[in-house]
Amino acid sequence: MATASNSKTHYRTCNLCEAMCGLEIKHEGTKILSIKGDKEDPFSKGYICPKATALQDLYEDPDRLRAPMERTENGWKELSWPDALDKVAAGIQKLQKEHGDNALGIYLGNPNVHNMGSMFTARHLLAGLKSRSRFSATSIDQLPHHIVCMHMFGHMLRIPVPDINRTQHMLIIGANPLASNGSIMTAANVRQKIKDVRKRNGKVVVIDPRRTETADVSDEHHFIRPGSDVLLLLAMLNEVYEQGFVKETAASQLTDQFDDIKTFAKGYTSDNVAKSTGISSAEIKRIVKEYCEAESAVLYGRMGVSVQEFGLLSQYVIMLINLVTGRIDAEGGMMFPNPAVDVVNGSGPGYLGKRRTRVRNLPDFNGDFPVVAMSEEMLTPGEGQIKGFINIAGNPVLSTPNGKKLESALEQLDFMVSIDYYLNETSKHANIILPPVSPLERDHYDMTFHGLAVHNTTKYSPALFKTPKGQKGDWEITLELAKRLDKNANFSTKLNRFLTKLLGPKFLLNEGLKRSAYEGLSLKKLKQNPHGIDLGPLTPLLPQAIKHKDKKIHLNMDFYKADLARVSESFNLEATQLSDEVLLIGRRHVRSNNSWLHNSQRLVKGKSRCTLMIHPELAEQQSIKNGDIVKVTSKVGSLEIEAEVTDELMPGVVSIPHGWGHNRKGIRQGVAQKHAGVSVNDLTDENLIDKLSGNAAVNGVPVELECISNTATQDTQTREATLA
Ligand code: SF4
Repeated sequence: MATASNSKTHYRTCNLCEAMCGLEIKHEGTKILSIKGDKEDPFSKGYICPKATALQDLYEDPDRLRAPMERTENGWKELSWPDALDKVAAGIQKLQKEHGDNALGIYLGNPNVHNMGSMFTARHLLAGLKSRSRFSATSIDQLPHHIVCMHMFGHMLRIPVPDINRTQHMLIIGANPLASNGSIMTAANVRQKIKDVRKRNGKVVVIDPRRTETADVSDEHHFIRPGSDVLLLLAMLNEVYEQGFVKETAASQLTDQFDDIKTFAKGYTSDNVAKSTGISSAEIKRIVKEYCEAESAVLYGRMGVSVQEFGLLSQYVIMLINLVTGRIDAEGGMMFPNPAVDVVNGSGPGYLGKRRTRVRNLPDFNGDFPVVAMSEEMLTPGEGQIKGFINIAGNPVLSTPNGKKLESALEQLDFMVSIDYYLNETSKHANIILPPVSPLERDHYDMTFHGLAVHNTTKYSPALFKTPKGQKGDWEITLELAKRLDKNANFSTKLNRFLTKLLGPKFLLNEGLKRSAYEGLSLKKLKQNPHGIDLGPLTPLLPQAIKHKDKKIHLNMDFYKADLARVSESFNLEATQLSDEVLLIGRRHVRSNNSWLHNSQRLVKGKSRCTLMIHPELAEQQSIKNGDIVKVTSKVGSLEIEAEVTDELMPGVVSIPHGWGHNRKGIRQGVAQKHAGVSVNDLTDENLIDKLSGNAAVNGVPVELECISNTATQDTQTREATLA
């Protein structure tokens, strides 16, 4: 039994989500004794959420793969690393020789941005893979933020965030930071931050089709019909002018076309959007008035806004409202973080639509095609058809629209590789799986999220445990594959690859720190400060934050104005009542992180969270009672799920959380399989997209409901097993 005397304490940053919480991990040798919040961490000040303990579960998980695996006629068999890497390189080279470089599809999942090693070395692997058929999780998430910021501020990663620590008024639309712990707003302990806004006599208002956990701790909540956010935002912009609240500031003086914003939303009044949005005209006017009159304020819209048919236009209008009300680069408004290592300086600004997909002519963004096009590019014969696939830290079968179609596309590929430490719903289709070490076995520095943080800090986390013998970090896998695939790299690429392999990605981190805007930073200094270093609150950063050469904010208004025609085609502003179509939205829970933390017993235990939330009125209309099994059908598929009747949902709306559906055969995640749930992406439609950006529209999916079993007491897990 461990005693206090031989235990050690390790400090690091949790990398599971964007919140960057500091952890204090007590351990004895390789045994973890406890994981708690680090009270001395200057960013999170001791806060952690329940997911932090999953780092231990991931580390200890017997289901986690620790050696490369090859799928054979007799099932999975272990391979040595040299054999596995050689086979992967040979498989890719054979495929590309036969069908061309672009016949290899590439998917980059969300965990890549939480991984310093992957961030530093991915470009080596991508160069080696040579293919332009690349997709990533960006286009089912934050793509609109990148495009708006690329246009306005000159770089896709120059993204301002709410100054939540000082604002007096926060208007939140389509975001649930109490469940996500902040997103495109790295902010540990949002619950406390909202309490603090209210304590200083400020106000927090939430607009969402669901009365979320965030709404529950805020001052005010308004239901909104899914997909109609663009109408509300246009009407709000109009109201700012109608009520005379436009404010000229340093930011507005740096803005081209500032005067043209006045007419951008002309015709969208609070009166004529009320019926379509479900929010009365008087309420819209009051929301705008209070927002504009507040001493400081910020309008923040996130995932719920981005993943709908007008996600990009909506995020643009959010930025316009912040701009015309004087909230950009203002204390308590939308401010630019100033990270110690600024990824903006080491990457291109981004671009939209340089290339188009083969089948549906959808635009790429910064070299990534929209994920909604992935399965059709695999299934549609012809030149350029994707015949092979490398999946890097993603589970798109569960996390992208129409997962069933993607499954059938993966099944007919000639060759597939997954870099993943689980045999999951996507990696089970691979010929070879290359598993990296768990998060506690690698160094960590938040390359991305320091740049989205609501307070400037810097912190390096060394690996808690050494890489176990016979295992490899993501960056080692990446570099070793790159070496096999990219033999013709130039001298400097080879040298960089060699040094990174020799010294680890922290060598590159140290180079970044030495070039920092903050004097005296180095890896050595960060190691001497294991809790992290406080670099101060956000400060005004215009015009230097702008990456356009002329140091102006570019509105690129014609591009967005053109999309207004699509808005008028899609909505009937003359309608006198809300449509009676039932619309499906997703949801997130603080104990879950997309699809990949469901093999932790501590996180999934208790009552199933994978339920169909439905408002009592709608439930009554459909003769559905709490606990009944309901068949939900969309244009692309159907599933059966237990009903949870609750007035949290707007009437006419139902909600299923994403990331579940572990009832597929052939996966190896014992806990997740017992708590399988169903995949909402068996209902979402890959043809429902934001045409302007190519982003997936997974919110507001029309569905039909049918109560198929009034057996409220039936064991749902048994039923799910039967369905599988
Ligand atoms: S909020 Fe995010 S970063 Fe913080 S402990 Fe939870 S999962 Fe980790």
